[in-house]
Amino acid sequence: MKCNICGGAGHVRLPHFNLKVCDAHFLQLVERRVERAIQKFKMFDRASRVLVAVSGGKDSLSLWHALHRLGYAPDALFIRLGVTPEVERAQALVQKAAAALPGRLHVLDATSYFGGASVQEVARMLRRPVCAVCGLVRRYLMNKFACEHGYDVLATGHNMTDEATALLGNLLHWQDGYLQRQWPVLPKSHPRFAAKVKPLALNYEQDIKQYAVLRGIEHLEESCPFAAGATSRLYKRLLTELEQAQPGIIGAFYLGYIRRGKIQAEPVKLQDCQQCGYPTTIPVCAFCRLLEQFSRKRKVAFSSDSAEAQAS
Ligand SMILES: [Zn+2]
Ligand SMILES: [Zn+2]
Repeated sequence: MKCNICGGAGHVRLPHFNLKVCDAHFLQLVERRVERAIQKFKMFDRASRVLVAVSGGKDSLSLWHALHRLGYAPDALFIRLGVTPEVERAQALVQKAAAALPGRLHVLDATSYFGGASVQEVARMLRRPVCAVCGLVRRYLMNKFACEHGYDVLATGHNMTDEATALLGNLLHWQDGYLQRQWPVLPKSHPRFAAKVKPLALNYEQDIKQYAVLRGIEHLEESCPFAAGATSRLYKRLLTELEQAQPGIIGAFYLGYIRRGKIQAEPVKLQDCQQCGYPTTIPVCAFCRLLEQFSRKRKVAFSSDSAEAQAS
């Protein structure tokens, strides 16, 4: 197998681009697609203060590496969502990556908002899906951190396969608001809303996986256990099946959305949350309501504990 670009020994097959390439040209191709996304959507420039949200997975760690290689100078944020061995392992991997890269790694402990409870415990207590609580807490804290620390943009590791999956879900339900908000760049629309960008939006998930392997980026192998069974898992599986039958279909699907241009949805009316002051569409934001519900439940749990203790 020969590299279609240099004629050297090719190792990587890219059926979606109908290409075979050598390792060096593969790495170049992935990084060029990152750069193209940044330029095409005017995400940021080399003077911007960029904060990458890192989880320990292949996407966010590859993004962090690729941005440095492309001459950007991002810092990173890792949010501790619990005190489990998985969290420790993820943090160790992130810290290892940080040691090899310039820029700062911030570690934020989300459990401090919940008296030491993990998002799993919070979700269990409130009988809500872990995935939903986790997403809510992460989005809120990432945005707050980026705003408070003066970052121009918050970059996340969503790849094109993730984005095509979200697009499929949003189209099946024709959710105009979500279709608009899944655009690869969301500009700063409020002093307390950080701009959000997805520089991996033009790269297939499998290419990012391969990129991490070839660059020697150690990462968590498994994806989030709580996402299992989620509808998005089903959509991703179906899209992956389609891609195998029709290589390139995920790219065609997603890039079709991009070519059509940004969808105009009804503008949402923002107000300041009465509790925390961050912008929201309702009087008290979803994060503050979560905190309220959690502390109420916990008080009930504590008082029944002490009642039991008194009774015994
Ligand atoms: Zn080559
Ligand atoms: Zn709030």
